[in-house]
Amino acid sequence: MIIIIKPEVEPNGPEVSGILEYLRQFPDIKTKISEVSGVSRTVTEIYLIGPTHHIPTETIEHMPGVEKVVRVSSKYRLIGRHGGQLDQIGFEYNGLYFDQNSLHTFIGPCAVDTREHVEIILKNLQRTGVVTARMGAYKPRTSPYDFQGHGKDCLPWVFELAGKYGIKVIAMEVLREDHIDEIADALEKAGRPTGVMLQIGTRNAQNFELLKAAGSQQEFPVLYKRGMGLSLEEALNACEYIASEGNRKIIFCLRGVKTRLGDPHRNLVDFSHVPVIKRLTRLPVCIDPTHSVGTKDRAADGILDIFHATAQGVIAGANMILVEFHPRPELALCDGPQALTMKELDHFLEDVRITRKAYEERKALAERELFKKWHA
Ligand code: PEP
Ligand code: MN
Repeated sequence: MIIIIKPEVEPNGPEVSGILEYLRQFPDIKTKISEVSGVSRTVTEIYLIGPTHHIPTETIEHMPGVEKVVRVSSKYRLIGRHGGQLDQIGFEYNGLYFDQNSLHTFIGPCAVDTREHVEIILKNLQRTGVVTARMGAYKPRTSPYDFQGHGKDCLPWVFELAGKYGIKVIAMEVLREDHIDEIADALEKAGRPTGVMLQIGTRNAQNFELLKAAGSQQEFPVLYKRGMGLSLEEALNACEYIASEGNRKIIFCLRGVKTRLGDPHRNLVDFSHVPVIKRLTRLPVCIDPTHSVGTKDRAADGILDIFHATAQGVIAGANMILVEFHPRPELALCDGPQALTMKELDHFLEDVRITRKAYEERKALAERELFKKWHA
């Protein structure tokens, strides 16, 4: 059960204490208060854990400060919308706001290689007004003989350059709990010139200990990538681990699923699940067209398959795009063949802008149609 507190009520105020006092008569019930900060207000929610069936919903609903009481199923307790009873939850991080209405484009190399390449990318992002990037320092590779990433050694100069070019958030994959500490230390030492969104990659999508580690820290938001062989339900359950440890700054990412049915693409593009995740959960949704498509093939209409897949996600309401770019893909140490180049950046961003506009028009049209239906 979740008790949603009215927005104007202080989390430490008498109304919340009154509710907690009332709940003390149910000794089997544990309470946990969660504050979710949005753009204009902080939402306080009280979670009741334990046998809640004998707790009278109506009594609580009439208590001062209560907006509503929601009975939740055991599935996706914290990230779920529970049949539309709960609103989305956005979050603010390092001056940017992420929710189910926003759209951010995270651009950069699969793996950080040279300072020169990173600088070229960041310079181009600044030129085009993009303030979000992706940079892999720790890389999970299929073969142990492939480049594993520069690890913590590259963090000082990556953060310094990000600050120099006005990047506010970098998405960076972590493979182990101590990578989170290494990132936090390097960021602190660099004087916090930028922010980091921790990426949990598809290969770690059910590494529950790593998910708990990302969830038990509050500093960094987490980008959870769907496991390449996981059903949506399994992936959402795994994602719930992050929230259950206390971190509510989560974005759910679709990156394609592994099956030969996706051939000739690297994976089967699963972006038709964007609206499904927005309906089932309160989380913003990211799409990763690079790892979904995995080729630079161009369709007969002259548009790259990666652009087409991106458009499919954006026109369905995606809130974040994670996409690989490299100034010299032939020299990239990881995932070069699927990287877009700097020459393709302006075209890509313009294509996203067109598609986003189309999504907004579609949304407005649907709102008008629903209004007509309700007032008919
Ligand atoms: C990546 O984003 O570079 C990556 C390795 O993605 P995934 O975990 O989806 O394969
Ligand atoms: Mn990659």
